[in-house]
Amino acid sequence: MPIQNRIAKFYDDMKSWRHYFHEHPELAYKEINTSKKVVELLKNFNVDNIETGIGGTGVVAVIENGSGKTLGLRADMDALPIREENNKPYCSKNAGVMHACGHDGHTTMLLGAAKYLAESRKFKGKVVLIFQPAEEGFAGAKAMIDDGLFQKYPVDEIYGMHNMPNLQSGMLAVEEGPRLAAADNFDIEIIGKGAHGAMPSNSIDPIVCGSAIVQNLQHIVSRNSNPKETLVITVASFHSGNANNVIPKTAKLNGTIRYYNDEIGKMVRKRFYEVVNNTCQTFGAKPKISFKKGYPATVNHKKQSLFAFNVAKKVNGKNSTNKQAPMMGSEDFSYFLKQVPGAFAWIGNGKSASLHNPKYDFDDSILCTGASFLATLAEEYLI
Ligand SMILES: [Zn+2]
Ligand SMILES: [Zn+2]
Repeated sequence: MPIQNRIAKFYDDMKSWRHYFHEHPELAYKEINTSKKVVELLKNFNVDNIETGIGGTGVVAVIENGSGKTLGLRADMDALPIREENNKPYCSKNAGVMHACGHDGHTTMLLGAAKYLAESRKFKGKVVLIFQPAEEGFAGAKAMIDDGLFQKYPVDEIYGMHNMPNLQSGMLAVEEGPRLAAADNFDIEIIGKGAHGAMPSNSIDPIVCGSAIVQNLQHIVSRNSNPKETLVITVASFHSGNANNVIPKTAKLNGTIRYYNDEIGKMVRKRFYEVVNNTCQTFGAKPKISFKKGYPATVNHKKQSLFAFNVAKKVNGKNSTNKQAPMMGSEDFSYFLKQVPGAFAWIGNGKSASLHNPKYDFDDSILCTGASFLATLAEEYLI
């Protein structure tokens, strides 16, 4: 592939950008140095327009060539509050912060595609490059959309990509339908009545009530949800009491709910309140519920997934697949896919520690494949 060959010439540059980002990781909405570096490189590439500060620290750049359609390509820039345990010359210099999800690699691959597209301009129309902040739990994608991203830079389709540890190095995987789950979180405080441990009839025991809530919530999965639908309800913490002989007054529970289908999400939320409120009422306890709606499910659009898979095959031949199982993790690219048709692809990170692990590292050898995939999406779409 000519694109691969041209981008392969950027390999040493891309590797050095990737190592720079890895060495200087920044947390959500604090990607100040990162976005500065992104802008500096984009200026060197002679892109046509750069705007900073969209959705906090987000950066948008445009490469234009005559009139035609507009394609959006997105990378995420933020790191995680993890202390790195690698022993490489480019390890994090920002103690307790680490690129443990490979966003350093994602940003670099989009920069590689930008450099190629700005110099070659073998397309008709516009490429909008979106470097977003705060993917890790703080909805940077939504912040950019709320800040007018698509009013200022309307795009016809949008594509994004994430590395996947232990998927064959450089393998491109893209497929229609749900790819990542919606993730809602909850906190429950049960307010009962404390008493002597030997005098339970004087109490309203929040531990017994909480235990019933844990059990009853699972019945939403087994009895309210269609068995063909995917649904997880996990109570992940349960804290109450601190003595052998005292029934405490309160108990605190929290957890997470994962699903692919918005209708299932609505049903679970309704049943969640009913189950918690009514179980508490049965015991005479009072609940305080905080239900936090998280990222929606990442659901790839059909036509765009097929297009992206064909591009993957063109770039990568047999090292591409449309048979990669969906996952229950979540990703804020979902907000873009709710607004604009598109697809989210995986790129294999080869044998590596898992995402968010202190020993994780992005696989440099896939940089050119990833950048070629993004650039080819633009060239094939903007004809
Ligand atoms: Zn992550
Ligand atoms: Zn990530």
